[in-house]
Amino acid sequence: MTNEKISQIFKNISNLLQIKGENSYRQRSYERVATLIEELQQSIAQLAIEDNLRTIPGIGQAIESKTIEILETGTCKFYEELKCEIGADVLSLLQIRGIGIKSAARLYHDVNIKSLVDLRRAVDGGLLKNISGFGQKTIQTIDHNLQHLEFFEGKRILGQILPIANEIFGILKECNLVKQIDFTGDLRRYEEILQSLELVIVCDDLSILLSLLSTLDQIEALEIKDSRILAEISNGFPVEIHNATRDTYSKLLFSTTAEPEHLQSIRDLANNKGLTKDEWMHGKTEVEIYTQLDLPYIVPELRKSKKITDLALTDEIPDLIELSDVRSDLHMHTNWSDGLNSVKEMVKTARKIGYNFIAITDHSQSSRIANGLNSTRLFSQIEQIRDLNERIDGLDILAGSEVDILKDGQLDFSDQVLSKLDVVVASVHSNFGMNETDMTKRLIQAIENPFVDILGHPTGRLLMRRPEYALNPSAVIDAAIANGVALEINASPSRLDLGPDIVKHARDKGAMISINTDAHSAENLDYMWLGINVARRGWLNKENVINTFTINEFQEWKQR
Ligand SMILES: [Zn+2]
Ligand SMILES: [Zn+2]
Repeated sequence: MTNEKISQIFKNISNLLQIKGENSYRQRSYERVATLIEELQQSIAQLAIEDNLRTIPGIGQAIESKTIEILETGTCKFYEELKCEIGADVLSLLQIRGIGIKSAARLYHDVNIKSLVDLRRAVDGGLLKNISGFGQKTIQTIDHNLQHLEFFEGKRILGQILPIANEIFGILKECNLVKQIDFTGDLRRYEEILQSLELVIVCDDLSILLSLLSTLDQIEALEIKDSRILAEISNGFPVEIHNATRDTYSKLLFSTTAEPEHLQSIRDLANNKGLTKDEWMHGKTEVEIYTQLDLPYIVPELRKSKKITDLALTDEIPDLIELSDVRSDLHMHTNWSDGLNSVKEMVKTARKIGYNFIAITDHSQSSRIANGLNSTRLFSQIEQIRDLNERIDGLDILAGSEVDILKDGQLDFSDQVLSKLDVVVASVHSNFGMNETDMTKRLIQAIENPFVDILGHPTGRLLMRRPEYALNPSAVIDAAIANGVALEINASPSRLDLGPDIVKHARDKGAMISINTDAHSAENLDYMWLGINVARRGWLNKENVINTFTINEFQEWKQR
């Protein structure tokens, strides 16, 4: 068991005690020990084995025995009793932005709210109005954030599931029992939020495969149901492995990949041709399934709507951008601000990937937590970059900055400082709670600054953690087009911002897009393909994306 998990249990105990109303020495000592363990360099489990827990200042006899109990059983009696007494779900209230420990306690005692379901009932029934400290604005914020949480319940982000999905895929592919295998469902369409992990396989004996899978650490709760293996990974996230024969494989792959609307539009086409009962899919590859209906092949990530079927009929399917079209990454951080690696190390990795040019864009001065650069440090970084650029071959390094858009829409550097830079990414990192009119005005003002090239992570969303801030996307897109500013698809797995719907909207209006990793380490430069997926799902071709430009084309575009 990791330090993090043990620390979380102590943190939960402290929170439960506070909600209960025990504002005591005992509660504070749990809070302290949670922080202590979280920040501890050594492994708690190892310390326990060596009988050295008490050598850590702050761990007394009571905490020692509870830690050992947690290490041995995964929990402790005291924690379980508290959960029974107060209700374990009450802690979920703390996930809502706008509810801290004090307001959770008030909700608990004043209106008996013990879970998110209770909270929803209270919000809808207008019960919160009567509690002190819950003004109309707070209630609105709570409602908004609760909706966000409800929407994502049970779902996971692509970046979180993909590593374990690939592991399971690899194990099955190596297994002699499995003759054929593909991902399917929302993972095969590369949705950024997943509801389940689905695979299609050809396997002669599911029960032998089941017993093999049950020996794995990555996967649990397995059963066979209607020629599928059902299981779970990662705290209850559902896994579904569909079994097919060689003849039904593509049919199953095809029908589990497409969204219902797209599948129906394809079935309707087949019906019109007099083909019925899905027999037309039998024994065919996916390419053959489309060809048979006089359609070009439609890639999985576009199989969502009827619209795409209609476009396919008139041969107007967009020619989607590929990862190999990308020549540059224009937003990344180094150890000058909050990145892990040096400029040199970022350059080395970017060269290995094969980029023609990159922009180093560390944070600006107002991002204090991120160790943002003031103009003096920025100038010496520019100097270092120019110098390095002279000395290396095969890749151009542009000097840039990710400049904060301040509350009033001003940028964090003067135009005089910005004029020294090759690339300016302007981003919002503060005051997310503004209303739509003010936030839209703020973004447009930044876009209108003549030195801004790219609007960074335009909606500010953090997948499943923070909703988009209030803004009018159409107005922002129009301003970006009018001022020749590219809108970013930030490829960081926790963001993927813009999402595909707004990307498509921007594309239809004629905006330019920039896909960047916002890498905070050399390793993160690999995220580019996640951004490309979003771009493809937003129907972008390479002409829409400034990262496909050569450096000369890019400089030309900058003169816009
Ligand atoms: Zn940023
Ligand atoms: Zn950034």
